[in-house]
Amino acid sequence: MSEIQIADIKIGFSGADIPDSNVINTCVHCGLCLPTCPTYRMTGSELASPRGRIYLMKGVTEGRISMTDDTFVEQMGLCLNCRACEAACPSGVMYGGILEASRAQLQRVKEEGIKEQGLKEASSQVHPSSFNLQPSLKMGLVERSLRRVVFGSLFKNMAMFRAFSWTMKAYQKTGLQSLTHKLGVLRLMKMEDAERMLPRISDQFTVPKGQIYKAEGERKYTVALLSGCIMSTAFAQVHEATIRVLNKNGCDVLLPEGQGCCGALHVHGGDLDGGRELAQRNIEAFEKQGLTKLDAIIVNAAGCGSTMKEYGHLLHDDTQWQARAETFVSKVRDVHEFLAGIELNRKDLKPLNIKVTYQEPCHMAHAQRLTAQPRKLLKAIPQLQLVEMFESAMCCGSAGIYNLTQPEMAADLGARKIDNALATGAHIIATGNPGCALQLAAELKKRGKEVQVRYIVELLAESYGK
Ligand code: SF4
Ligand code: SF4
Repeated sequence: MSEIQIADIKIGFSGADIPDSNVINTCVHCGLCLPTCPTYRMTGSELASPRGRIYLMKGVTEGRISMTDDTFVEQMGLCLNCRACEAACPSGVMYGGILEASRAQLQRVKEEGIKEQGLKEASSQVHPSSFNLQPSLKMGLVERSLRRVVFGSLFKNMAMFRAFSWTMKAYQKTGLQSLTHKLGVLRLMKMEDAERMLPRISDQFTVPKGQIYKAEGERKYTVALLSGCIMSTAFAQVHEATIRVLNKNGCDVLLPEGQGCCGALHVHGGDLDGGRELAQRNIEAFEKQGLTKLDAIIVNAAGCGSTMKEYGHLLHDDTQWQARAETFVSKVRDVHEFLAGIELNRKDLKPLNIKVTYQEPCHMAHAQRLTAQPRKLLKAIPQLQLVEMFESAMCCGSAGIYNLTQPEMAADLGARKIDNALATGAHIIATGNPGCALQLAAELKKRGKEVQVRYIVELLAESYGK
């Protein structure tokens, strides 16, 4: 039997979640998105640009390029899914959806091996054992463990997630963390950078049990808060601040029981089915509160908010869920969007004499197109001086698990962001997403800088007073 080289076999998109060729064909190759793309700016390579990646997707759609092509695999992984290109595109190319679908296709090939998908197009004479996955298609140990243990179990079970967070908290509080640093264990295991990203786990977790936090004074709105995964453990103090700010603005805040992770990490990483499972769970949990009586479902993490606003698209093929998802989506509001849209309680805001620069999370600025609202809130705080940084809306390199899968690009973008932030002379970098907060804090720690990273709602809560 003649040996058929893997490179000769064109493996195309197939099955569910095929990148929409109508979206791909909307690209007119004008290149206006290129200057906004972080990976293009860092590499200068056309292939690492949105136009280059759309060209690769089109090639696979038309059968000219194989999904197993090294360049295709590499570029789908190197993209940050920051969606700066989408916001800049005059033709309205919805890039995020086609990237996520491409990643879902690749993920299936990685998990099932070439046998399942590729052999459809391959010669029937070829024996499966003659195929070997290319190096770029083999999942490394870190990615495999992340996908199986973290995505597959931890983020889907909040009790397990909280138990894991308690363990991390014990590691940080008992001195074990300092000991591993002193002994150089992490350096030996080449895990220093990953460990630097570990969030400081809050002392008090936010466990949603259907509790209601009452509005201060007259109730004007009833809202429900997404507690999420990392936000409810590592950033529980941000939830506390969010609830306080909402209460000060006439909101009763509910924490629906049964909710969990929003699924953003799954969707961005190509595990669309995992994302769907979590979306359905959240829709069900919030529906139990009675969606019609809610003025809004509030989200204080940009990545979660943008994913939740796209639950309708995620479930568009499911007749049972699509309408329910759209009703849910109609209520989702980023906390900055909500507060900037109501008459803010300004009379109780006390002066904060601080110099702040704002780092725009990609999923706030590009995916949700919220740029004025966070700034409006910062400017509402008396005496707060807002100084704009250069490239405030360029990705900081966090992008979900990008730090672990693309450590070099993530580190370069993190360093670039901190250079720009420090150049403003601000004492505080304000942001609105856990990934950004961790990335910025890790880079500041590496440089030994005292500059703080704070959420805008934390600054507002501070201004309202304890
Ligand atoms: S994605 Fe949009 S901006 Fe970029 S090349 Fe295509 S049409 Fe032009
Ligand atoms: S999502 Fe971001 S990194 Fe990816 S192509 Fe668009 S601008 Fe570039």
